[in-house]
Amino acid sequence: MSPDVPDAIVLRNVTRSYSTGVDVVTAAHELNFNAMRGEFVCVLGASGSGKTTLLNLIAGLDRPDNGSIRVNDREITGLSDKELTRFRLAEMGVVFQDHNLIDEFTARENVMLPLEVAGVPWGEASSQAERQLAAVGIEDLGNRFPRQLSGGQRQRVGIARALVGGRHVLLADEPTGALDSANSRALFEVLRVLCEAGTCVVLATHDPLAQQFADAVYAMTDGNLSRAQTRS
Ligand code: ADP
Ligand code: MG
Repeated sequence: MSPDVPDAIVLRNVTRSYSTGVDVVTAAHELNFNAMRGEFVCVLGASGSGKTTLLNLIAGLDRPDNGSIRVNDREITGLSDKELTRFRLAEMGVVFQDHNLIDEFTARENVMLPLEVAGVPWGEASSQAERQLAAVGIEDLGNRFPRQLSGGQRQRVGIARALVGGRHVLLADEPTGALDSANSRALFEVLRVLCEAGTCVVLATHDPLAQQFADAVYAMTDGNLSRAQTRS
């Protein structure tokens, strides 16, 4: 990766603690993190290590106690909830272990949803959704309902919905948590293809297989993040 590729995500000294009433858990402790455009960054860590906290902070779904979070050159820590929602819809996509697709909608209709929220006309939304389904390798499944898709196919629909409309930052929280190893591998390959096409992918997972597909690997342990490996 060339050094002049711009950063998509920059965190500086980001801390987030939760008070449980009984004690205080520091889920993110002075995190420093960079991810470039077109880079596939994997955050590996055990359950409870702080991976979801990190992704929620980047997504603006949670707010840090301290520190700076920049996404596509915009400092997001000072934005209002409304500004954050608008910014996320324009710039970032988030996928979780649970795909959260709407059962009554086809795959294509699910992918069209963010475009319809943004006021894109139906015909244009439909063709953009088709292209995004093709980008995740399921262009022939647009008319199927979620129940007619495998777990891996549903996750691809979720990823297409997260990126449709020209978003280039994908935050994926344990997207293979419910998949077997063959389907996990296939999903990591999809993420790899997306990053080759310019998307910044941040994948949080406990699956070490993901390291083979990533440009950079961070390890998360008890709220601390350290750079573990760079793809040669
Ligand atoms: P991971 O995604 O790696 O499993 P999390 O980010 O979900 O880790 O959690 C990190 C730590 O922060 C855990 O100890 C968890 O219990 C705690 N935590 C996360 N969210 C909250 C919350 N909203 N309130 C209290 N504690 C939380
Ligand atoms: Mg988690």
